[in-house]
Amino acid sequence: DVVVVGSANADLVVRVERWPAPGHTVPGSDLAVVPGGKGANQAVAAARLGGRVAFVGRVGDDPYGTLLRGSLERAGVALDALVTTPGPSGTALITVGPEGESSIIVSPGANGRVTPDDIDRAAGVVGAARVVSLQLEIPMPAVRRAAETAAAAGARVVLNPSPAGPVPLAVLALCDPLVVNEHEAAYLLDGAVGDPAAGAAALRALGPRSAVITLGAAGAVTADATGTARIPAPRVRAVDTTGAGDAFTAALCLRLARGDDLAAAARFAVRAGAAAVRREGAQPSFPTAAELP
Ligand code: ADP
Repeated sequence: DVVVVGSANADLVVRVERWPAPGHTVPGSDLAVVPGGKGANQAVAAARLGGRVAFVGRVGDDPYGTLLRGSLERAGVALDALVTTPGPSGTALITVGPEGESSIIVSPGANGRVTPDDIDRAAGVVGAARVVSLQLEIPMPAVRRAAETAAAAGARVVLNPSPAGPVPLAVLALCDPLVVNEHEAAYLLDGAVGDPAAGAAALRALGPRSAVITLGAAGAVTADATGTARIPAPRVRAVDTTGAGDAFTAALCLRLARGDDLAAAARFAVRAGAAAVRREGAQPSFPTAAELP
């Protein structure tokens, strides 16, 4: 169904009462080491929803590489195109403050070593997908080659340009859809989004065949050749929004792979995103197919 080409990070999480100023030290909670990274999160989320999923990327030859490989494997993700590379795995150094706000440093490690040649070696896997899901936590040349390989093989390309950064026109033109949150939308549109439906249409005017903006508790809005659609999210008690966007994108990709149109896929995806905010963490919070009938 879905092939994810992207990042895997070990999330190293510590809670703090306040952040240290440069040159200072503060005490923190015990360290939690949790598998993460946008690519791996989306692969795990799509597999947990019952999808046949493969992951293309790199992990380091350190203990975190073993952890990351293990979490993908346990979720049932095919790992024939996951390369173990000398050096450190991707890591995210995350401090979470008293109000739940997080401050994050991402060290790319092995993710930064994913090359267009890796994509060529995985062309069989990428080309066999119905939907190929991409993000921006691996170098753009690899993202671009993955989008081109997928499109040439007739697969649908879904790009979540996160962390927000420039996307070449040649890549934008292959996206169907481009999936962004409000922050990423504002970055790409060079200003505040304003009316969400108009924002989604404006994003589509940048080149992708279709666009989706996720709106947190307000759901999402879609724009494609048939027009725009507002998709409300179910009301839930939010416990931890980490990974909500990844759960949304994974669910969207899975439903598109199964033949839904964009608005129908988004109606399922908002339910997956809402389910993910009801539990702590990213990967542990992703719903199963049984939880989303
Ligand atoms: P990101 O996590 O990338 O910032 P959003 O915050 O827009 O993205 O959330 C992605 C999706 O997760 C939303 O479209 C929605 O389906 C779901 N979601 C997020 N926050 C909530 C919430 N408080 N209540 C219900 N659903 C939510």
